[in-house]
Amino acid sequence: MSKRMFFGKKEEEKKEKQIALVDQDDELEKEISLLTKGDKGSVSKVISEVEGTIKEATKASIRDVKLLEEGRCPSCGRKTKQFLFTTVCEYCGWSTFITPEKGHALIHLKDGNIVESKSMFQIVQGDILGITDDVVRIRIPSGNISYIEYVWADEEIAARREQRRREERVVCDWCQKEVDRDEYVAVIYAAIGTNQVRYQFCSEKCKRSFEKQYPMRIHRNCYERSCAECNECVKKYEDEVTMEKLEEKKERPEKKV
Ligand SMILES: [Zn+2]
Ligand SMILES: [Zn+2]
Ligand SMILES: [Zn+2]
Repeated sequence: MSKRMFFGKKEEEKKEKQIALVDQDDELEKEISLLTKGDKGSVSKVISEVEGTIKEATKASIRDVKLLEEGRCPSCGRKTKQFLFTTVCEYCGWSTFITPEKGHALIHLKDGNIVESKSMFQIVQGDILGITDDVVRIRIPSGNISYIEYVWADEEIAARREQRRREERVVCDWCQKEVDRDEYVAVIYAAIGTNQVRYQFCSEKCKRSFEKQYPMRIHRNCYERSCAECNECVKKYEDEVTMEKLEEKKERPEKKV
């Protein structure tokens, strides 16, 4: 089981939540009926508050994912450093990491004892929960922990390396040649239909050939102007102006553990 500290496995989480909610449902129903007797308005106010919270959280998640996709820190907007299973922001200290799927974690306690756990989470109170086979086996106050060791399986690291290698390669949209992400020179954002699309080329020559082959429609001139100045197509990629605005944002209201 891969445990991502910040982005949980949605499906499994949903299932877990549903199970937990069954018990709470009766309680909730009682409380709602009490409220409706006295004050119908406050119930709908609570519901709209919940909806508002969900909407805000969704917006924040989309923003985080978008920033991460661009290699930016969700907390301060600056460039992050990517490691095999970990992303770190050198500027503000934000980090995300995936703990071993095939391996496990060893929690070294201050008294010298070692606790093994398949995965771990730090809860709001600061304690560490050791989870194995979907069950919390141990809860350790963080003050008792000396350090945590992650034990990785070689095959998992090798598989990830291979995945990263493939991600770092770019296939030229003109000649199909595969090049290193660092090597490729030309990028075009263009809307040949209604959607903005990113095309990547191994060389200026391939880029020009593409432009010649696929001229823009008369009222659009994607090749000549920046996407920031265009509002004719459906945008999929952040423009530089948006990125600058995000960078200006210093602190986010909600802090992740
Ligand atoms: Zn940062
Ligand atoms: Zn090419
Ligand atoms: Zn456009």
